[in-house]
Amino acid sequence: MGVPTLGCVCPVCTSTDPHDRRLRPSALLRWREPEGRERVVVIDTGPDFREQALRAHLTRLDAVFYTHSHADHIFGLDDLRPLSFIVNRESGPIPLFATAETTATLERIFDYTFSPHSTYPNRACVQLKPLGERTEFCGVEFIRVPVMHGKMAIVGYRFGKTAYLTDVSAIPESSFALLEGLDLLVLSALRHKPHPTHATIEQSLAWAKRIGARQTFFTHIAHALGHEETNRSLPDNVRLAYDGLSVPVTL
Ligand SMILES: [Zn+2]
Ligand SMILES: [Zn+2]
Repeated sequence: MGVPTLGCVCPVCTSTDPHDRRLRPSALLRWREPEGRERVVVIDTGPDFREQALRAHLTRLDAVFYTHSHADHIFGLDDLRPLSFIVNRESGPIPLFATAETTATLERIFDYTFSPHSTYPNRACVQLKPLGERTEFCGVEFIRVPVMHGKMAIVGYRFGKTAYLTDVSAIPESSFALLEGLDLLVLSALRHKPHPTHATIEQSLAWAKRIGARQTFFTHIAHALGHEETNRSLPDNVRLAYDGLSVPVTL
């Protein structure tokens, strides 16, 4: 929902700490290929994608990897248009990697972008691509990590020694094997009170401990959790993420 949450005047929603202002969750990954070319990939394009892309001074975008098709993860897709026009001149449409379920929803919601019958002239230059178990993109391997979001099977991603898992309510046993030896884990943790489709902070702490990454950041945090106060209660190697947080990763 973002923080402040609309209509709410709780202490976190009215906090003056900039860490308590949270746009919808997303991640940006930047790296340089050996010949020096910069590559930029995002995971999910939520309704705040435009504002986040401006903040990150994005001047190009090479691919998007989607976790699932809920509004808070896809509704910024139309704002790919200007970036896609830039990249298309050089290398064709921007690939959007997604599961079959996510693809079907994106095609329905953004039919004016994806339908072969669309007559909309300024549609984004993007192309939906099936997501395999492992997807190699510009020298980086993205491993699909199946997780549950309530009754919905969705995906997280592992790249190098980092994993990004959002909107998780359960992690299948087989996915833990994909999460061994991590330096960095980004994992959703909504609040203390149980929720049907999101893990509590206690559940995510237990998973963080089991996965054993050197550093874990929690994301997809509801307004029930104040940044400073919650961080004081967490182990040293687990912290709440915040908007604009930047971390070096090993690919
Ligand atoms: Zn969701
Ligand atoms: Zn979500």
